[in-house]
Amino acid sequence: MNAKVWLVGAGPGDPELLTLKAVRALNQAQIVMTDDLVNPAVLEHCPQARVLAVGKRGGCRSTPQAFIHRLMLRYARQGKCVVRLKGGDPCIFGRGSEEADWLRAQGIEVELVNGITAGLAGATACDIPLTLRGVARGVTLVTAHTLDDSPLNWAALAQGGTTLVVYMGVARLLDIRDGLLAGGMPASMPVAMIENASLPQQREQFCTLGGLLHAAQTFQLRAPAILVIGEVTRQAGWHSVARHA
Ligand code: SAH
Repeated sequence: MNAKVWLVGAGPGDPELLTLKAVRALNQAQIVMTDDLVNPAVLEHCPQARVLAVGKRGGCRSTPQAFIHRLMLRYARQGKCVVRLKGGDPCIFGRGSEEADWLRAQGIEVELVNGITAGLAGATACDIPLTLRGVARGVTLVTAHTLDDSPLNWAALAQGGTTLVVYMGVARLLDIRDGLLAGGMPASMPVAMIENASLPQQREQFCTLGGLLHAAQTFQLRAPAILVIGEVTRQAGWHSVARHA
């Protein structure tokens, strides 16, 4: 394999959700740089590699993005096969394209490998179809957290008629609820909260948009979690709303 950097999606957690291409890249890697949300179990595919944890949350030290860039560049220039492993898909709220652009600007070959994104895995783990004929003609993946805290266009999201999958929303539940209600979404809209999707410790809870804060508090919702907001959520677990809304 030529010296290059692979930007690889590790999927949502379940190691069986890795792609064969991700496994092939891991098999050949000399350096593997992992994010916090990567399940360490996937590292069984690269026992030969030196593994560097460069995640940004969790412990008390964070790894600045510029440092990660320089580290990838250094190893690639040494001719090492580098795998940059990211939770879910590298380009869904994962900065994969930023890293790829930067490396390519330095003359480094980059290959991106898809991973199953958390929203997709979480919905499937709860038997929620994100699109459904006659119910939801689309799905919108949205982050509740932005670099500059700029407000989302909640009205457009509320009225778009697509299923909403909200990432990084645990600390923003009030904004999400109030924004969508003000945008015209009914308080009765069903919501699924899915924590640690696809992992053995997965937990899920169902509620309504109006009851979101209370339900999250009672359930003690913790990151990493996604919210699936939309009529499709009625396909799974809707019976439990009476107890938790
Ligand atoms: N690139 C990742 C997303 C990274 S942003 C992907 O495609 O999945 C981090 C956010 O992803 C978390 O705050 C959470 O909202 C979501 N997330 C990641 N892994 C998750 C999991 N196993 N279960 C639920 N949500 C998860």
